[in-house]
Amino acid sequence: MVPGARLVILGRQGAGKGTQCMRLARHYVVPHVSTGDIFRASVKAGSEFGLRAEEYMLAGKLVPDEIVVGVVRERLCQRDARARGFVLDGFPRTAAQAEALDEMLGDEGMPLDLTIDLEIDEEDALRRLADRRVCSTCATIYSTARPPAIDWTCDNCGGEVVQRQDDTEDAIRKRLADYNELTTPLIDWYEKRDSLVRIDAIGSPDDVLRRLVSAIDSRKLR
Ligand code: ADP
Repeated sequence: MVPGARLVILGRQGAGKGTQCMRLARHYVVPHVSTGDIFRASVKAGSEFGLRAEEYMLAGKLVPDEIVVGVVRERLCQRDARARGFVLDGFPRTAAQAEALDEMLGDEGMPLDLTIDLEIDEEDALRRLADRRVCSTCATIYSTARPPAIDWTCDNCGGEVVQRQDDTEDAIRKRLADYNELTTPLIDWYEKRDSLVRIDAIGSPDDVLRRLVSAIDSRKLR
């Protein structure tokens, strides 16, 4: 049995976090915990909580820290995450979220194995975001350059593959600006604690996955 892992993946929008986190979760047999996917699923379910989250998401704004932290805490307490670990995608994004995560994991005796910054510059990120398409059912990510095999029908689940509602130019600009202001400082924060590795996000999904797995495995052997 492959050993589990406890990972945080940072990287600006368009770096390929979603694609790589799905693959890493499969590789290490751990849950993929994407705060964006959790919010999108509650929007789709039409819950009260989803309606509140949707307002922020459509405007490209961050959902308030206390809401996001509560959602992540609940997910990481579940049995699969406790037993095997997790790949955190899209969390933490602010200093308050990083501190809350630290406290959560400290309380549970589950230290992170590694934090990875998936690096891409803003120009490449914008290009990828314009081309991004997602399955509205299972959240598998495609692009206009790598579409599903048949007519925008998800290869994985048969769901409809669409452009995300918040992938508008304005919302993307706002999210990238927030990333630079609020999330970039976390890279230094994790680096100072010797728990950060930078990985180049440019290349085919298979190449980037190989880089990630090799960095993670060598850290776990240390
Ligand atoms: P992206 O990385 O393209 O911004 P995500 O799918 O990660 O997309 O997130 C979509 C939206 O969900 C964000 O714009 C934000 O409104 C909300 N969200 C997700 N994660 C967080 C977080 N950690 N803190 C605050 N809001 C979040």
